Amino acid sequence: MLDRLFRWFLPLLLLTLQVQWVHAQQDRALRIVAIGAHPDDADIRFGGTAALFAQMGHHVKFVSITNGDAGHYDEGGGMLAARRMAEAREAGRRLGIDEYVVLDNHDAELMPNLHIRHQLIREIRKWDADVVLSHRPNDYHPDHRYAGTLVMDAAFLVIVPNVTPDTPALESNPLFLYYQDRFTNPSPFRPDIAVDISETFDTKIEGLAAHESQFFEWLAWLDGRLDEVPEGETERIEWLKGVRAQPVNGAVRESLGRWYGEEHAARVNHAEAFEIAEYGYQPSPEDIRRLFPMLNRKP
Ligand SMILES: [Zn+2]
Repeated sequence: MLDRLFRWFLPLLLLTLQVQWVHAQQDRALRIVAIGAHPDDADIRFGGTAALFAQMGHHVKFVSITNGDAGHYDEGGGMLAARRMAEAREAGRRLGIDEYVVLDNHDAELMPNLHIRHQLIREIRKWDADVVLSHRPNDYHPDHRYAGTLVMDAAFLVIVPNVTPDTPALESNPLFLYYQDRFTNPSPFRPDIAVDISETFDTKIEGLAAHESQFFEWLAWLDGRLDEVPEGETERIEWLKGVRAQPVNGAVRESLGRWYGEEHAARVNHAEAFEIAEYGYQPSPEDIRRLFPMLNRKP
């Protein structure tokens, strides 16, 4: 009797448990961390996709490496940093994400040093991230460049237990992705993944509009459009939609075609695209569909 139990029942039970465990891993909510140099960068590059992840029950955290205390023509320092932190929290709430962390490093002074590398390793580990996004290390803004460098410096070290041992190391490397940008030297951005954000474009714009000091003041001033910014809330949002609608370029549309099919891709008006970094987990197309489950839906 006991012999039969060991020969048949136990192996079967173990197999069933293993199958259930594998399914639980596949069904587990995904954990995404989007890192930017300033409070608004993750929103600009990833806001629509973040809102999709959130709507689908996945966990998204935004991290701004600097506190944004240089991002204005008329305000600055601690007062501006406090204002921007409140704006970031409100943006996170509007996008439906779990958390918006603003690290207290000075804006326009970001350097790729060990202290900040360790801050980022801890943020990625604490989030138990499956996917990490940031800037490419080629960009007009030195803070964006160094943010990209810092995140890539963390890409391997997040699994090394002797680095920042106060925060347990991850068991495996997350997928590291770059946000889309327009820079071509030394190489143009490659849209490996493209997400149709038509469904969440309005939510994304509402999220951006929470950064009042930026989209209705500082960036409008930089663009010489401060006079254009309307007074009323609804009018401002409509204005921002026009300013921020980014035409889908040929390379991104091709990528949309690979993920959604040509017919669907031809209709997409708003998209966000990402390039796979070479230093983290290297995914197969099936892995990408598991990590970006919205690619399997056709809204
Ligand atoms: Zn920025």
